[in-house]
Amino acid sequence: MLTIIDKRFCTGCGACINACPKKIISLQEDEEGFLYPKVEESKCIDCHLCEKVCPYKKERRTNYNADYPQFYAGQLKSKQDLTLVSSGGAFWAFAQYIISSGGVVYGAVQENVDNIYHKRATDFAGIQDLRRSKYFQSNTKYTFCQAKEDLKNGKIVLFSGTGCQIAGLQSYLNKDYNNLYTCEVVCHGVPSNNVWKKYREEKERLENKKIVDLVFRDKSKGWSNNQYKITYEDGSVEYEKSTQQLFHAGYLQGLFYRPSCGICRYASLPRVADITLADYWQYKGRFRTQDNDFGVSLISINTSKGAKLLNDIPDYLDYEVTEKKLALSSCRHLDNHPTENPKRPSFFEDFFKYGYFKSAKKHLSKEHNKLFLFAKRVVKKVKNIIVNE
Ligand SMILES: Cc1cc2nc3c(=O)[nH]c(=O)nc-3n(C[C@H](O)[C@H](O)[C@H](O)COP(=O)(O)OP(=O)(O)OC[C@H]3O[C@@H](n4cnc5c(N)ncnc54)[C@H](O)[C@@H]3O)c2cc1C
Repeated sequence: MLTIIDKRFCTGCGACINACPKKIISLQEDEEGFLYPKVEESKCIDCHLCEKVCPYKKERRTNYNADYPQFYAGQLKSKQDLTLVSSGGAFWAFAQYIISSGGVVYGAVQENVDNIYHKRATDFAGIQDLRRSKYFQSNTKYTFCQAKEDLKNGKIVLFSGTGCQIAGLQSYLNKDYNNLYTCEVVCHGVPSNNVWKKYREEKERLENKKIVDLVFRDKSKGWSNNQYKITYEDGSVEYEKSTQQLFHAGYLQGLFYRPSCGICRYASLPRVADITLADYWQYKGRFRTQDNDFGVSLISINTSKGAKLLNDIPDYLDYEVTEKKLALSSCRHLDNHPTENPKRPSFFEDFFKYGYFKSAKKHLSKEHNKLFLFAKRVVKKVKNIIVNE
């Protein structure tokens, strides 16, 4: 029976719950707030399929053609659609193409302010809420089983998720399907659900109203100035720069990443999916001008299937070749796993005693502090003046 000895080697991808013939495994949160498989022991038939399917028990797939990866910068043609995606919208272009070809798309949706899960979509209405990055771990539920059925029935399938989820799907399928396209988002780690819930409760108490919606990266002030947007039950809205938002800053600083993220073996080249998507922050070409701060996708094409899919979507996406060196320097986590903050254990110790606000203020580095950032900008300006004189 499945036993997790070292939590660093479980990504919560969901391969085991899909492989179980009795369907007696579910993903449940541990005390830190991360999803792990839990088996209904009395019903277990000791078939060991849950253990065998675990991607960590297998070699990581590396069978790629020397022609790849190829890197591209891309942006949706529709400016209106660009406001509804996190970066340049490459995923939305692929998803629309697959649906218009009669295929099926799988991806992450936000059920409410606390829950993200994977779902199957077969039409344009169904793919709308797959858009946008949701910075929590998505529960893949039984989507690997559903995707297998679709593949066996000859449907074209686009499955999107983080690298560990794609590795879980591949391990579960255990063979290549010509009709399967995989698309992963570059990931710098997922935060603890418990920490989020505690933050939300404390924030709601402070404001004396409930949070009813959350947009992790609102673009109303532009892609470069993306903001964390919280909507309350009375309709009021709060915007904060993502790096300064008290919860998001703790996440970005790695105070409460999932243990497996700090040793992630999928955040490296060659990537596991046919296509890898990221934000192209260092891009300075025609998709990013004074009048165009809508977002640019960095697209890593990792296989010939990925190349075929990119070739098929010019109606939806403008794209151009970009240099590997610039791509890798722009997106550290394309070829480096995130690093766990050494303060993580003491953060959790305080978190269990005092809750979020108090522990975050103690453990967060000054980088999220507005005054500190303002002082840093002033020092930089003064230095520039001295150098230029
Ligand atoms: C947890 C997380 C961490 C990320 N870290 C980085 C990073 O360090 N650097 C970087 O450049 N980009 C990162 N990204 C990716 C980036 O934010 C964009 O999602 C990506 O560039 C695709 O953007 P888009 O405009 O094409 O599509 P969008 O419409 O913005 O994204 C939608 C796609 O993201 C998937 N998705 C959204 N949330 C989740 C989730 N919780 N789990 C699995 N899949 C999800 C959807 O299924 C869909 O495929 C991260 C994304 C997530 C979800």
